[in-house]
Amino acid sequence: RDKIMAQIKLQNIAHSYNPDATDSKYALKPFDMTWVDGGRYAILGPSGCGKSTMLNIMSGIVKPSEGRLLFDGDDVTDKSTSERNIAQVFQFPVIYGTMTVHDNLAFPLVCRGYDKSFIESKVNEVAEALSLEGLLSQSAKKLTADQKQLISLGRGLVRDNVAAVLMDEPLTVIDPDLKFRLRRKLKEINQKYKSTLIYVTHDQNEAMTFAENIIVMDDGEIVQIGSPAELFERPKTTFVGYFIGAPAMNLFDCDAVGSNAIKFGNVEISTKTDLSAIKNKRLKLGIRSEYLQLVKSAGKNTIHANIESVDDWGNHKLITANFEGSNIKIKVKREVEVPTEKIYLKFPAQNCCVYENEMLIS
Ligand code: ADP
Ligand code: MG
Repeated sequence: RDKIMAQIKLQNIAHSYNPDATDSKYALKPFDMTWVDGGRYAILGPSGCGKSTMLNIMSGIVKPSEGRLLFDGDDVTDKSTSERNIAQVFQFPVIYGTMTVHDNLAFPLVCRGYDKSFIESKVNEVAEALSLEGLLSQSAKKLTADQKQLISLGRGLVRDNVAAVLMDEPLTVIDPDLKFRLRRKLKEINQKYKSTLIYVTHDQNEAMTFAENIIVMDDGEIVQIGSPAELFERPKTTFVGYFIGAPAMNLFDCDAVGSNAIKFGNVEISTKTDLSAIKNKRLKLGIRSEYLQLVKSAGKNTIHANIESVDDWGNHKLITANFEGSNIKIKVKREVEVPTEKIYLKFPAQNCCVYENEMLIS
């Protein structure tokens, strides 16, 4: 069978739910974005940042107040949901309680007039992928919330002609263990069918374990698009540094003092960032708690900090320290011996991110 190719392009898209009001506010500020066919994406951001609005614009539930939406170059901005070949899965299951599991899965294909043998093979294939084979003849009404959501997912996946499957926090009702297995399944399904999957979540773990590319949003704006590694290593804004990672990235006020050095308290720290053209000398230094090194003595790029507490997290220890009024988190392996009062902490230059007005200097 032929797969429907679809490159989805959002061109100068913006949305306000009340565009005519005098105090009109963007739920989604103007942006451009292209979704590569077959990609596995997550849209990540806090509640209210515009994730569902973006998804609903792509599926056609919301018509954007500005901009155009193109599928493989065709303008679909004014087309209805059913004309778009998009499958959408919502936070809460949408199923027909009076039908069997089999009929629920078959429904999207029956509606589109596929022949019976094709429907059977497709339903069986998806049921197997989601481990629903044993439930096919049961009435959907009696299932658990988990199982119902699996069926909602399955109904999105049976259609082989979809340009993309959009999922809006689909695993919220599902228990954590099953969640993990389901995300793995979704990855396999993406690899097998090569359909574009876009997964919305406010949970960084879900996003990082599912997606090849993560779109991080804040207050109606895309703040960074990158792989999990890129978001971890080089957060483009302090917001991303703070939002991604557990604990959040350490961020300290500092001053530029040389072509690539900053001053944090009374200590000069060399970085790999070119600071020679920086006008504003008040900057922020960002470093992940995983990258701070406990060393034995004073030296280059090293501060002497007071330990405030050490928490045992089982597989690692989290040290909270204080240096000239700044709070610092350091993550170390559980077997590392932590001194009781003061520690020397080294800042590896390659792991230092420098921010001007909350934006990474690259
Ligand atoms: P998210 O999915 O990230 O939680 P939404 O896209 O649902 O965010 O919402 C983005 C903004 O738009 C929020 O400020 C929200 O209150 C507002 N909003 C969402 N839906 C509507 C609506 N139907 N009418 C008016 N405002 C809305
Ligand atoms: Mg939402």
